[in-house]
Amino acid sequence: MSVDSRSYSPSASKPEQVVADWHQYQLAIETQSFEPSTADALCTVHDQTHVLDVLEGRKNNGHGNRILEVSESCLWTVGSFVAAAHEAVRNGKVACSPTSGFHHAHYDHCRGFCTFNGLMVAAHGLVSDGKSVAILDCDAHFGDGTQEIIERLSLGDRVSQWTYGRDMPDQFHFAEFEAQIRQFIADFVAKTPAGQRILFYQAGADVHTGDPLGPGELRGMTDDDMRQRDRLIFTLCRDLGIPVVWNLAGGYQRDRHGGISKVLELHRATMEECALVYRRCN
Ligand SMILES: [Zn+2]
Repeated sequence: MSVDSRSYSPSASKPEQVVADWHQYQLAIETQSFEPSTADALCTVHDQTHVLDVLEGRKNNGHGNRILEVSESCLWTVGSFVAAAHEAVRNGKVACSPTSGFHHAHYDHCRGFCTFNGLMVAAHGLVSDGKSVAILDCDAHFGDGTQEIIERLSLGDRVSQWTYGRDMPDQFHFAEFEAQIRQFIADFVAKTPAGQRILFYQAGADVHTGDPLGPGELRGMTDDDMRQRDRLIFTLCRDLGIPVVWNLAGGYQRDRHGGISKVLELHRATMEECALVYRRCN
């Protein structure tokens, strides 16, 4: 069965489709295996009763159901993101986790297709290792779960967040977006020693002007804007020597056959820009 069959979001089956697409287009990727996350790891940033209730089917997951297969798949998405974050730190450049479904997950409740907050599980672990984390959340929606956990666990000195859903004005202009991103990264660099930095980049595809759950024509990004967005962020991080781990986040456009070809195209563009930017530093 398709694990997302009872949800509007394609996120539970998206990693497999996205990676298959990248292989089909022969993008320069190297895949690595990883371990799933654990209940104990989730409990570093979530309420323990909440975690166990969801994992054991007593409480709805972020997709609004209690299917154990869906809830358990979240251990794999969180594990993937944590592993990719460590790989980015190890190689000092970039790693990708082809995952979604993190930023609306709060300390003790799921919301909006998000069950557990893999961004914050990874951030908490890295902070414990002496790192500081900048979260650049370019999904269309406010990373409210991320923000709540940052504040609740008093991580604000070590984890900062820029989120499109809260921080972009009502009308999109690339120059203004670029200025905000440059400022956010400059602030991060100013307050964090070089060896301690890592940036999480949620490369959401639902900021696209055509997304049914996105910001719309005026506040959304075109195909070209999104490529420029990706190029800007990867180039800044490369030039400043900030390791970056990125993931997919939202993207809800369907083609007339019910497939996600447009979403695949947008995520492919991000991987193409990533490969182009980092190829130049080898
Ligand atoms: Zn979103």
